[in-house]
Amino acid sequence: MPSKEDLKRRADEIIDAKADDLISIAKTILSNPEPGFREVKTAKLVAEQFGSLGLQPRSGLAITGVRADASGSTPGPTMAVLGELDSLIVGEHPHADPNTNAAHACGHHCQIAMMLGAASALTSSDILESLAGRIAFMAVPAEEYIEIEYRDGLRKDGKIEFLGGKPEMVRLGEFDDVHLAMMLHTTSNPAEQQICISNTNNGSVAKRIQFIGRASHAGGAPHLGVNALNAAMMAMTAINFNRETFRDEDSIRVHPIITKGGEAVSAVPADVRMETFVRGRNLEALMDANTKVDRALRAGAMAVGADVKIQTIPGYMPLQQHKGMAEIFRANAVNLVGEDNVSYVNHRGGSTDMGDISRLMPVIHPYIGGAVGLGHGATYVIEDYSLAVIKGAKALAYTVIDLLGDNAAHGNSIVGGQRPDMSISEYLKFMRNLASEETYKGG
Ligand SMILES: [Zn+2]
Ligand SMILES: [Zn+2]
Repeated sequence: MPSKEDLKRRADEIIDAKADDLISIAKTILSNPEPGFREVKTAKLVAEQFGSLGLQPRSGLAITGVRADASGSTPGPTMAVLGELDSLIVGEHPHADPNTNAAHACGHHCQIAMMLGAASALTSSDILESLAGRIAFMAVPAEEYIEIEYRDGLRKDGKIEFLGGKPEMVRLGEFDDVHLAMMLHTTSNPAEQQICISNTNNGSVAKRIQFIGRASHAGGAPHLGVNALNAAMMAMTAINFNRETFRDEDSIRVHPIITKGGEAVSAVPADVRMETFVRGRNLEALMDANTKVDRALRAGAMAVGADVKIQTIPGYMPLQQHKGMAEIFRANAVNLVGEDNVSYVNHRGGSTDMGDISRLMPVIHPYIGGAVGLGHGATYVIEDYSLAVIKGAKALAYTVIDLLGDNAAHGNSIVGGQRPDMSISEYLKFMRNLASEETYKGG
């Protein structure tokens, strides 16, 4: 039986031999950006690549998701290696699609290429036969929480239930047989160096809010109106008055915007719309902040006698990465780029639906460099593909070899050692309870 080091050397050879192809796959995806649940071309490309490795991909999961499994020679845990299919919408991005403004301003095109690179190595029979368990390669849709209207339309049409790709894949049972999951995201932050191990991310809840007042002549008869904009401003102030109750360690973020402030300046505003996310580092703090925001919204309506409609849409769960898996990944990162080029970030304020998976099983979601510019902005581009794709692919492949090699000794001990926060049915119940619509009559 070859040692893990032998297997990693073999993975290196395979990935190096395919390096040009893998980078060109990333660039093809970059030139064909598609936002969440619309990743038709990207999904087709992934399915073809899986097919060329001799795998039998299943497509059309959560509209555009693709999964292909490869089994080792003996029983053991199933480990998912994920890549995200979707782009953002950033019209000014140099690689934006001129028709849709879609653009890969978060580096997901590299994730797909590195996942395919890892798949090329791990499905090679001389490696696979030395692994236990199973590897589930998954191209997942819609990580970016955008185009809420569009996705809510898909939801109303019964095409999806949740607005993120991973929650949908969970709902459809695609994680029922998975025990461990891993993905690797690009980063442009120079402080995070070449590879960054991280620990937690904020979870999020999205809210769409409508204040309903009564229009009246703003000059002649304001006393007959009910000013919905004043209700919204009062609500914002009430949210701000709650900020002193947010603990630093919970990293609460509430960042509302007004998307409609009135119809005409001569009329008392009667229809004012707001949107906000509420974010937090753990579920308890997130739910507490969510309750306070609802209270503040009602207070605004009540103060001026308006009504408020509050729609709460589940966002993403707080991410908590598995320390043991992160340690194994870190050792491989050091191997690939050297100790001095590996960093650690404890908490990130942003949110990802990998957080949802982390409630259900041990996961890691580290970062790899190679990008420059501001994430989600027009300047975010990949400068170093050999880091972002080739070393990324190797880091994923090495980590699977560590977890599933040696009869999956590490994989089994991690799976056996952690009880998940929630079962899949508890998770689905929580998400369904969180989704709500209420109308509060403040009149
Ligand atoms: Zn992003
Ligand atoms: Zn991203």
